[in-house]
This record gives sequence, C-alpha cells and structure tokens, in this order.
Amino acid sequence: MTQRRLFGTNGVRGKVNTELTPEMIVKLGVAIGSFFGDNKKILVGYDARTSGPMFSRGITSGLIAAGNHVFLAGMAPTPALQYSIKTHEFDGGVIITASHNPPEYNGVKVIWRDGIEISHEQEKSIEKIFFEEKATLAEWDKIGTIQESVGIIENYVDAIKKQIDVSEIAKKRFHVVIDTANSVGCLAAPTLLRDLGCKVTSLNGNIDGTFPGRMPEPRPENLAELSLVVRSVGADLGVAFDGDADRSIFVDENGEVCWGDKTFGLIEKRFLIKNPNEKIVTPVSSSALVEDIADEFGGEIVWTRVGSVTVSQTMKEVKARLGGEENGGVFYGPHQSVRDGAMTTALILEIMTETNKKLSELIGELPKYFIEKGKAKCPPEKKEKLIEKLIEGVKESNTSTIDGVKIWFPDKSAILVRPSGTEPVCRLYAEAKDQKTASKLVSEYSEKLERLIETI
Ligand code: MG
Repeated sequence: MTQRRLFGTNGVRGKVNTELTPEMIVKLGVAIGSFFGDNKKILVGYDARTSGPMFSRGITSGLIAAGNHVFLAGMAPTPALQYSIKTHEFDGGVIITASHNPPEYNGVKVIWRDGIEISHEQEKSIEKIFFEEKATLAEWDKIGTIQESVGIIENYVDAIKKQIDVSEIAKKRFHVVIDTANSVGCLAAPTLLRDLGCKVTSLNGNIDGTFPGRMPEPRPENLAELSLVVRSVGADLGVAFDGDADRSIFVDENGEVCWGDKTFGLIEKRFLIKNPNEKIVTPVSSSALVEDIADEFGGEIVWTRVGSVTVSQTMKEVKARLGGEENGGVFYGPHQSVRDGAMTTALILEIMTETNKKLSELIGELPKYFIEKGKAKCPPEKKEKLIEKLIEGVKESNTSTIDGVKIWFPDKSAILVRPSGTEPVCRLYAEAKDQKTASKLVSEYSEKLERLIETI
C-alpha cells in the first residue's frame, strides 16, 4: 500500500482552515516534535500570511507537548530562519510558509540542524508518526518551554555582507527598485541594500498578508509594475522576491525581466572564474546555458530532479558550493546551501560592480536560448505509464530520466516532459537557439503525448 502523504515538493501545503486546520497543525507539531525527539531546541518562524501567527502557535503547542523547547523567531524571511538554525545550534526548525502560493494557502517546512530542509525520507518518518498515531506526548513535568529568539534578521544581514565587498559596491551608488510582495522580504533586503550604499525604491514594501500588491510568485505577468518603475525612475536594477524571500527574479535597467537561469548563469560564471573545477548542482529543468558556462569556465554540472530540497541535499552529497534553479533560486554554499533572495541580490550587485557593466550587457554576453512552455492533459493514473512509453521511444537519443524525460538534440535544442505533481497534466519545457525551433518542439511533443495517452 502506498503511504499516505502530507509533504509535497516543498513541505506541507494547503488552503487555510479547509486543508490545513488548527487541529491538524497541532497534531503535525506533535509528530514533528516526536521526530526530533524530546528536549531538543527548535526555532519556529513564519511569513506574512494572515494565518502565520495562528499556525505558529499551533505548531509550538505540538512541539512543546512532545517535550521540545521552542524558540520563537516571529515573522522573518525563510533564508534568515534557515541561517539562524544553522549557526545558533538549534536542533531544527519549523517554518510556516506557503512560499509563492496565493494568500489563502499556508504550509509547513521542517528544517534540519544544518539549515537545510529535511530529506524526503525524513518527511516520510514524520508522516508515519502522524498517520499511525505514533507521536509521543511528554509527561506533565517534561513539557517543553517557549522563549523569544531575537536578532535573527540583523545577524542574517551581517552574514550576507561578509560574503561580498561592501565598500566597492557602495561606491557605485546603485539605485535598486525592490518588490517584496507585501511579505517578509521587506524585513531584511531593503536594510541590506541601504548598507550596500544603494538608493532603494520599495514596492509593496509593507507587510500585508492578503498580498494586495501582487501575487507572491515572481513571474513576468506579476512584475509589470516593477518593470515600469525601474524604467521610470531610471534605476540600475529591479528585484522581486517570492512570498518567503528565498527566490529572486531580476529586472534589468530597461525594465526587461530576466529569467532565473540567466541571472544564475552570471553567478555561475563568476563563481567558476574564481573557483575552477567545482561542481554546480541544478535541476533538469534548467537551461543548457548553465552547462555551456560550465564547459567554458571549467565546471561540472550535476543534474538533479526538480525541487529545492533535492538541490540542497545533492549539494551536501557531492560537496558542491553552488546550485541554482530556473525559477530564481540560487544556493550560494559559502553563505548557506539553500535558496536565498537577499544573498542572490548582493551577488548580482557585486558582479555589476566588478565588471562595471549594466545587467542587460551582462545578460547579453551569455549564450542565447529561447524557451517555450506547454502542457498536455494527462490523468494522474496514466502519468507513470506515459513517461515509460516516452522513454521507450527515445532510447537511442541523448536523454536523461532523472525527472520525467529530457531529450537533448544535436542542434543544442532540448525538451523536458514532466508530470505535474499538482495538476492532471504533463508539463513541457523546450529550449532552442531560435524561438521557432522551441515552439515546434512543444507542438510536436504535445501531439506525440496525446497519441501516446490514447494507447495507454
Ligand atoms: Mg519560496
């Protein structure tokens, strides 16, 4: 029998008070507490969602009932909490966030003592405790304590500043427009930017858990206002965070939105120039651009399944110090091996400082690829079989089956077909040296998938 699941790609997620209820959150808190074992020190924090204070108290009740000591961080960016867990000898942490999801959602991420989200195997242990009622409640005199944890955001901003040349960046007096989506990004990044000598224009810079400014996913369609403001105030750079401020998408000085694997490519290039022969970890959904840069500057790409936990865990396994995703997640190991929007912003500013170039010029120097995305309807029960059939048909080609199927063609074009974890569709991502080829690949493979589904 397949085990019942609570955790998805990035922790437990659901709609507040329907899928995620206070009752189940307390029960989950007890299960997480039992997983860590009693008498452990656990940091608890949350993002700007309206349900954050409610769920953080629910999780806290569960954790102390299981005999753990809770340190309340309050509202903070996810990477600030992860950094604190890693550096302050906590035994683990729980972050209440639904990252980029709309405001009616929330979620729970469990963090290991190294600041990285627990592995999928560890998530299964928590689920087993939760569903099989194996949680252990402490005796009345062994119930844990609760105390405040202070200074987390200040320590986090200081730690980022130690990774970069603050005084050189400050000389440039950059003007940066930052859109923090009315969430926790506004608690750290504007301060960091001011410390880096930047003139800061804030958009959606007040905390409001209903996210009135824009949806927290930093997709181009949500960033029109940022582009407009960058152009109209003549800023050097625009940056938009997702809801918990671990991902950042940049806008160049012309207001053009740069997709995540391009800005990751810039960071990768600089990293390999300074540290040749290192491994770079990235999911199969990333552009071949990342591999071109590794080939040119002497790095080795380690491809993984899609998902930030997998990237962090793989970095740990292969001892890599840099990872990145096409959605704007950059894992800068010298700071911490997890996605970090403010750290990424500081690195981009440092690259602009060192090269004395505008973001559009830097992006213009990278190998060019054109992207096309699509989806094909596929009932969930047919997904596995469909991918198997597709693999059978492409045995001779240059393929990867790490996550779905990715096929690379001799002209450097590629297509990735992945079953969606949340919708009854398979997603298609194509890239090529010209837009026509990328579009053709998506339509060709959409048709191919439709034909294959009929045979299953
Ligand atoms: Mg996030």
